[in-house]
Amino acid sequence: MIELDRRHRLLQGQAREWWAEVRPHALEVDRDPTTPTRLLHHAGLGCLGTLQIPPEYNPDPLEISGHRFHLMTALERIVYYEEAAWGDLATALAAPGAPMTGVLVDALGDREQKEWFYGRVLAEPTWTFFALTESERGSDAAGMTTTLTRDDQDGPWRLNGAKRYVGNAVRGQLGVVFARTRSGPLGVNTVLLEADALGFTAEPVATLGLRGAQLGAITLESVEIAPERVLGRHLSPTRRGMAGWLRTFNLLRPVVASMSVGLARAAHEYVRDHRARLTRAEHDRLDAMARRIEAVRRLTRRAAAAVDADVSAGELACMAKLRGARLVENVTLRALDFFGPGARFEHPFLEKLARDARGVEYMEGTENIQRLSVFNGLGEGRAHG
Ligand SMILES: Cc1cc2nc3c(=O)[nH]c(=O)nc-3n(C[C@H](O)[C@H](O)[C@H](O)COP(=O)(O)OP(=O)(O)OC[C@H]3O[C@@H](n4cnc5c(N)ncnc54)[C@H](O)[C@@H]3O)c2cc1C
Repeated sequence: MIELDRRHRLLQGQAREWWAEVRPHALEVDRDPTTPTRLLHHAGLGCLGTLQIPPEYNPDPLEISGHRFHLMTALERIVYYEEAAWGDLATALAAPGAPMTGVLVDALGDREQKEWFYGRVLAEPTWTFFALTESERGSDAAGMTTTLTRDDQDGPWRLNGAKRYVGNAVRGQLGVVFARTRSGPLGVNTVLLEADALGFTAEPVATLGLRGAQLGAITLESVEIAPERVLGRHLSPTRRGMAGWLRTFNLLRPVVASMSVGLARAAHEYVRDHRARLTRAEHDRLDAMARRIEAVRRLTRRAAAAVDADVSAGELACMAKLRGARLVENVTLRALDFFGPGARFEHPFLEKLARDARGVEYMEGTENIQRLSVFNGLGEGRAHG
């Protein structure tokens, strides 16, 4: 089992304290998804705006009792995000900063692109988007149809297409968009884009859960992209595009698993705190829930350690994400059972947790996709961790 060292326990303690301050706003965020932008004075949310940026570009990371945290490793991220999700997952997803985009820029960007992107993010609270999903191509990202074309060799590129379910699409000032220059996996490219570009529009998409995250739909109509905004332009086609997003997902899948753990823990604690007397059978059920949460937490830590040791070692990350998505749906529904038939009306916070839990399944790849990745990894003799 991977135990947290003193440094990670300090991060955990600080995050727990900070996100306990955000939690009282959770239902307000659920009612009005614009609320998170008014909560930046809460350190837990505000600090995310300047973290998850590589040390060479961020001289001023989070400092706790003499220890510095950039939230760049998977282990630091899972420690932090378990607490953030316990506080409110929707608010955590609505934070400024570059949790996904930053990983991609780190993997694919050249020095100038990194300086430009991280410089923008650090200058002021900046929301970023990571536009990959298309409405007809969800999990089959390799089949995306958004195009990146140009008429002459040295001229600007043109971006055409539509993206959907993109986090922070509406509030985002800049981000990355995935598009193809030709058919096949080697034709996938990513570009840096500012939301005020001509031809870019974004609007919110209504969702049942994680409303505060305010997923959005992006339309791209002949958006001009300067050649220096194409990520990985200094890399070979095999090392940019899909390679970049696979690396991003390997790092972020344990983070989604840790979000499941935090959200499930919130539901478990809610039952413990709001049911004064439990029958023996109920007590046993609650204990079993706690053990399942702990099991996924341990798997998530192993997955994070494996990815930190080798970013291509994503099998455990897929397993953790898969287990986490199942855990959180199961625990939040069972938690409602403790309060009888009127539970969803009488316990709005728990009802919200059950709605939010469903969103986890769709983040960083659905259950079937994780299974396929694990299967392929095992088939190729890769069994990390
Ligand atoms: C909270 C949240 C945040 C998100 N943030 C972003 C973001 O920032 N950027 C972004 O681009 N997207 C984002 N998404 C979108 C997310 O990545 C997609 O929802 C996801 O790719 C699934 O796509 P889909 O909803 O179209 O479902 P589908 O891909 O249609 O999947 C539906 C079902 O079909 C199954 N399925 C699909 N393909 C296969 C296959 N080949 N084999 C077997 N089964 C299959 C799936 O497992 C699933 O059960 C976000 C979603 C959520 C909920």
